[in-house]
Amino acid sequence: MNDDEKEELIKRAARGELALHQIDKEVADANDAVEIRRKAIERLTGSKLHSIGSAGMDYSMVRGRNAENVVGVATVPLGVIGPLKVNGGHFRGETYVPLATTEGALIASLSRGVKALNMSGGATARVVKDGMTRGPVFKFDSIVDVERFLAWLPQNYENIRKVAEATTQHGELQGIAPYVTGNNVFLRFRYSTGDAMGMNMATVATEAACKHIEDNFKGATLVAVSGNMCSDKKQSLVNSIDGRGKTVVAEALITKKVLKDVFGTTAYAVNDVNFRKNWVGSARAGSTTQFNAHFANTIAALFLATGQDAAQVVESSSGYTWTEVRGNDLYISVTLTSLEVGTKGGGTGLPTQSEALSLMKVSGSGDPVGSNALKFAEIAASAVMSGELNLLAALATRELGKAHQKLGRSKV
Ligand code: NAP
Repeated sequence: MNDDEKEELIKRAARGELALHQIDKEVADANDAVEIRRKAIERLTGSKLHSIGSAGMDYSMVRGRNAENVVGVATVPLGVIGPLKVNGGHFRGETYVPLATTEGALIASLSRGVKALNMSGGATARVVKDGMTRGPVFKFDSIVDVERFLAWLPQNYENIRKVAEATTQHGELQGIAPYVTGNNVFLRFRYSTGDAMGMNMATVATEAACKHIEDNFKGATLVAVSGNMCSDKKQSLVNSIDGRGKTVVAEALITKKVLKDVFGTTAYAVNDVNFRKNWVGSARAGSTTQFNAHFANTIAALFLATGQDAAQVVESSSGYTWTEVRGNDLYISVTLTSLEVGTKGGGTGLPTQSEALSLMKVSGSGDPVGSNALKFAEIAASAVMSGELNLLAALATRELGKAHQKLGRSKV
């Protein structure tokens, strides 16, 4: 497309004669379409979007997949922690962990946690449950129909499973849990999704299953394929109790010497902060799913770096930090109840995101299928634990404000 042709489209868009999303339909080259849309927005708003437009990206990778009305990219600084030693059920070894953040002091503080974990033999991690959920809601005329449906459902499970699984090569239905509220029935479908986080996969499969149910059970009407019992991008107890995505635990034993040498503190002091802050304080604040210090810090930075769905930070940062004093040493564990991560699909294949996953050797499909996502989950939980350990110790020694003053508020 030559410059005159582009200019004509920019003018039409700026005059409002060409809708922003129509540009993709009129312009075959995705990179030209982004440039035209950005220049139209610059004229409409009187702004200069030089930085948003300057990062090198092939927008053909994005079109129809990751975003609409694209005008450029948002850049976020990306740093690393590590190498972090992880003794996982799937990942065994040392790895750097990429984190994208604008919070000064975050990467430095996790790095100090990593140092203490490594001096203690590393983090031990296990994925204890794995399955992505979708929870449609059906309505019925009365509880009598609901009762009939609840009897019908298990008898027809095999047919529903076949219909759902016919939509995907990697998705496998693990089960359907019904929840009744009046004449509404919520069905929580749970799937194995290989290396994908699985939300599109589970949605497409569940839509097919719902159609089959409506076609074969007279009186069942689908209200919505997502009835919030899934529960996606919202805080909920159901994810915390039943798990969503990966439920993963990481643990370590930090010796008295490491606590003293790295943090200048003791097991008793860290345990006391954890109990009074993460358990009593969270309960007093009315928290239902997040009895931790700052899982969300690590999860958000890791999600941005690796192309995860950023909105799923909500439930992916749910979980518990548990500590015990053992002799003079500190046992610490983190339990992430609903960590929704993938190494294939979604935003994971975009250039910087796939490089970030490659840095941990977990990009794309695993061998066997699913193993990359499981490894990634263990690395994520171990990184989260480094953040919990460091923050609890920093609070115990009253260093939190000092660190942020030094690293997060340097003069601009
Ligand atoms: P996806 O990119 O939609 O699907 C993953 C794709 O990878 C599938 O086509 C799958 O094929 C293929 N695949 C190839 N190798 C695979 C492997 N080793 N393991 C798993 N799949 C493999 O990704 P998704 O994880 O299902 O969905 C993530 C996206 O959903 C994100 O962009 C997220 O933002 C979005 N999202 C959607 C909803 C929604 O309601 N639809 C809600 C929240 C988020 P097969 O399917 O044939 O197996």
